[in-house]
Amino acid sequence: MRHFPLFADLAGRRVLLVGGGEVAARKLRLLLDADARVRLVAPRVGDALVPLLQDPRVVHLAEPFATEHLQGVLLAVAATDDRAVNAAVAAAGREREVLVNVVDDVELSSFIVPAIVDRSPLVIAVSTGGAAPVLARLVREKLEVAIDGSFGALAVLLERWRARLKAAFPDLARRRQAYESAVRGAVAAHVRAGRAEAAEYELRALVAGGRAPAGVGTVTLVGAGPGDAGLLTLNGLRALQRADVVLHDRLVSPEVLDLARRDADRISVGKMAGGHSVGQGRIHELMLEHARAGRHVVRLKGGDPFVFGRGGEELECLAAHGIPFQVVPGITAALACGAYAGIPLTHREHAQSVRLVTAHTGEALAGLDWAALAEERQTLAFYMGVGGLAAIRANLVAHGRPACTPVAIVENGSRADQRVTLATLGELDAVARDGGIRSPALVIVGEVAALASQLHWFGAAPRTLGALSVAA
Ligand code: SAH
Repeated sequence: MRHFPLFADLAGRRVLLVGGGEVAARKLRLLLDADARVRLVAPRVGDALVPLLQDPRVVHLAEPFATEHLQGVLLAVAATDDRAVNAAVAAAGREREVLVNVVDDVELSSFIVPAIVDRSPLVIAVSTGGAAPVLARLVREKLEVAIDGSFGALAVLLERWRARLKAAFPDLARRRQAYESAVRGAVAAHVRAGRAEAAEYELRALVAGGRAPAGVGTVTLVGAGPGDAGLLTLNGLRALQRADVVLHDRLVSPEVLDLARRDADRISVGKMAGGHSVGQGRIHELMLEHARAGRHVVRLKGGDPFVFGRGGEELECLAAHGIPFQVVPGITAALACGAYAGIPLTHREHAQSVRLVTAHTGEALAGLDWAALAEERQTLAFYMGVGGLAAIRANLVAHGRPACTPVAIVENGSRADQRVTLATLGELDAVARDGGIRSPALVIVGEVAALASQLHWFGAAPRTLGALSVAA
């Protein structure tokens, strides 16, 4: 290890900063964040620095660097674009035993500044010792994703409870256990979910009990999106990387599942349309069983968990059994299919509203308010509608939606095998008969559907069936 890692307390300490440009301004901001007193040496200062000079902790000397400027400083930073000046600061520092950082120049530097992830009071510093700063930045980006803002809040909370935890757990091993249960269990889950009071309550219970409780796990309901793993949210990714168990639906793509923590158990509770699978009751049992064993359960669902995903029922079950939970929304099929097929779901000229409709069963179709659905200037997105194409056509036309209304059927939206079929409402029976449409598919009805032929950008160009294809 060429550089010794350390976090220095610069509060009230004097630091020399040489340079008047934007790089110097960036360094000055960092130094002031650490509450240092900064002697700024620069014959001229640029616009970026000017407002910072108002700070009472900054003393600006408008003159060229001279060795005396190092008098009484703990550290120095050279941030000029003149290598000779930077080298002079470095040499003077060596002579006076003052550590000097020359920005972006490891050779001249006697200390280097790492890439940081700031979740104060938790701060993570990353350095490659100047070997490959790009790599350090890459690692930093990965950490930015993995370590969300709640880590800082958790550290603040634990600091406030430190004395009480110490008193309640005088034995070091027991104390470590208590901390472990807090940072891995319910306390952390409450902090992540923004439930400050509940987190305090857990800590009070921990301190009062004098022993770490048998950990209760948590369940995070995560929307996996429609398939393209890039459409998973950052919080969804974080939850997957914390997961001990992932209970996933069949619709969740393998690319998203691959993002789960490597040693998490993956349990498929897939529901096949028509086919047999794990029943909803069994899914509830599995969630409770794993959470009660102290595990972090991710219940991973296609699209968004609250859009035709039975997420509501699953949360009701968890709430009834006192299991803490969180919800991470996902990109629902209608949004994804619209985007990936080039169909804006609303459009100033064509549609002022969108409806998400389930066409799951004949009964569900019969129960719909078709008169309202047949109104013009709205877009309809039918989920689970593959078996109901003829019924959708019959009901909408019977209630006055013109047979010439454009329709797009998006199969496997956002996936490599996405297929978009364009037709008109009147042609849907033929599409159902001859189109070979397979689930998962979303049926988009409305003027906007026609825009796909012009605005498509992803995968194969849309095909047209029915009268249109005969004409062509
Ligand atoms: N919660 C999910 C919907 C579950 S219902 C969501 O928010 O998207 C399942 C239906 O969603 C499928 O029958 C299909 O109509 C639609 N669907 C899901 N993923 C899809 C995809 N990638 N392409 C097209 N339709 C999809």
